Amino acid sequence: MEKKILRLHQRYSLYIVLAGFVSFILLGIVIYYKVGNMMVDQSKSNAMGLAVIAANEIDGDKFEKIESKQDDAYYEVLESITKYTDYNMLQYIYTMRLKGETVTFVVDADPDDPAEFGEEYEIVKAMEPAFHGQVSCDQKLIKDKWGSFFSAYAPIFNSEREVVGIVGCDIRTADIMNRLSRLRVVIITLITIFALISVVTLVMIARDMMLRDSLTEIFNENKLKDVAQRLKRNNKLKDYTGMLVNVKDFKYINRQIGFNKGDEILRRYANYLNRLLVRGEYVARTGNDNFLMLVKKGREDVILNVLSPLELSVEIENTKQLLRIYSRCGMYSIDENDSLSGVMNNCTLAVNSTRNVDSDDYAWYSESMSAQMMEEKAILSNYKQAIKDGEFKVFYQPKVNIDDKSLCGAEALVRWIKDGKMISPGQFIPILEREGKITELDFFVFEQVCKDIRKWLDEGLTPVRISSNFSKMHLKNPKLSEQVLEMAGRYNVSSDYIEVELTESSGYSDFNSLDKFVHDMGAAGIYTSIDDFGTGYSSLSMLKDIDVDVVKIDKSFFDNMGDDKQNGTNLVENVIRMIKDLDRIVICEGVETEKQVDFLKDTECNIVQGFLFDKPLPREQFEERLRAPQY
Ligand code: C2E
Ligand code: MG
Ligand code: MG
Repeated sequence: MEKKILRLHQRYSLYIVLAGFVSFILLGIVIYYKVGNMMVDQSKSNAMGLAVIAANEIDGDKFEKIESKQDDAYYEVLESITKYTDYNMLQYIYTMRLKGETVTFVVDADPDDPAEFGEEYEIVKAMEPAFHGQVSCDQKLIKDKWGSFFSAYAPIFNSEREVVGIVGCDIRTADIMNRLSRLRVVIITLITIFALISVVTLVMIARDMMLRDSLTEIFNENKLKDVAQRLKRNNKLKDYTGMLVNVKDFKYINRQIGFNKGDEILRRYANYLNRLLVRGEYVARTGNDNFLMLVKKGREDVILNVLSPLELSVEIENTKQLLRIYSRCGMYSIDENDSLSGVMNNCTLAVNSTRNVDSDDYAWYSESMSAQMMEEKAILSNYKQAIKDGEFKVFYQPKVNIDDKSLCGAEALVRWIKDGKMISPGQFIPILEREGKITELDFFVFEQVCKDIRKWLDEGLTPVRISSNFSKMHLKNPKLSEQVLEMAGRYNVSSDYIEVELTESSGYSDFNSLDKFVHDMGAAGIYTSIDDFGTGYSSLSMLKDIDVDVVKIDKSFFDNMGDDKQNGTNLVENVIRMIKDLDRIVICEGVETEKQVDFLKDTECNIVQGFLFDKPLPREQFEERLRAPQY
């Protein structure tokens, strides 16, 4: 709950500050006027007070001493009566008094003439019966040719409590306004200061929001960079280990539970990582399902121990399901000269090294990883030119029928020969594949195969069916079938001599395109094969649904026979039998020993490919094989 509020607060803090800002302004405006009015009231009551005091004091003997002339003496007397010294605001003080039974006015109004005395007389008169020992007065705003005045006055009573005079004063509103404007300057200054503070706060919050990941609300990479810079300045960055954590197979999790739930999982995962940290440690989402942590050295194991697998329950279609989240992590022990981007790079290299099939889920960065990365970079920047320069050569590895030991096919395998040295496909194919650059090379090889077959035919050599490897990346290309057929057509090569090897695909969308491609090829009479069966995601049930002609059983399948030979051979035998039952041709790859051949003879697999018969051969040597196809 608390976290939720925190999240809300983080998300809406901009609005909260805005609302606060607006309320303050409104409050300021209210105060501006309210205080203004209070000020006016205050001034008015001052005037009244003055009048009241004057009225009290004037009654009796002092009555006679008041002068109408408003000179210093007048003010002195007034002051002695009123104890009021702030005359600045008083525009005009007037005193009306009784002499004997006659009222004499200090001011020039005629007391006998209510018309001259104006409304004030009426007011005083009206107050008369209400007065019982208490002094009363009234005030009002008057506007005349002299400007606006607050006029305050009080009645003067004789000992019989009859009104015998009136004392009053006028206060020019302009004076009040002067005072007010001084107050307003103070208020405006306060508002301005607050506005400035608010703007600075807003900018800081906006900056903070920019430095947070919008999905998980933990830091983003930029913020972690700031943090790392600060740590480095304080010479503390070297006390940390960078841990780049990646959610394994998040793509599949997304596919399995949908993107919204996937987002939720990422949020909870980020939250979980955050909670693993102690004071002074940091985590940021650096993109997709990647999180970079700066963890104090020596605490790595603590984090690793609790990280994988993480069990989260999610509600899918109203039922709670337990999701196991596995993580992989690349670690780098930071030294004093590192920057965050260097840390990121090294952690990335380390985490990528865990992606290999039989690697652990966690790896520390090592120098060799950098060397490998440089090599990969070189491959990626050079391969295009290498194709043009003819550095890629196609080798052919024969496929042999073990019943009569004759050549019955071959697989085209690419070799990169650079400066006289051979680079094996294992060094560059996975890289090109990962970077999505493999398709061009595959077509280059396939074209070379078509050219060679054409050449052999033209020379009167009878070719065998040659299989070319096509990365499953091709399946994203809707024109793949068309392009394969076009290429074969260009060299006028019969479909009898062509086969396309594809590694089995794992995803459902790939399955559909694989199915379509296999179908298209079948319709054109071109064989298709599933390569490396028995590794990765291969499954027999999938074979039922895909109409491929050939299944190539991977070398590792035999290796996996392991110590328990009996069970292993039984497994291989059974698998081969089942594939045969599905009416597919089985080819066993990587056959290196006679023993393996003997074993395979007992099964129904009669085609093999392996070093026992031939390694992949350069074209010229393979042509020899074509001429003498018997082993
Ligand atoms: P693959 O398609 O499964 O090719 C068979 C690999 O097994 C070849 O490795 C071959 O030399 C090797 N091999 C064959 N018989 C034996 C044996 O008796 N013992 C051992 N230890 N190995 C044997 P290579 O040529 O290094 O190729 C490796 C992989 O690279 C290929 O596996 C294939 O997946 C890929 N590849 C090669 N050429 C191409 C290409 O043109 N396009 C694509 N996409 N992939 C290619
Ligand atoms: Mg192959
Ligand atoms: Mg293979």
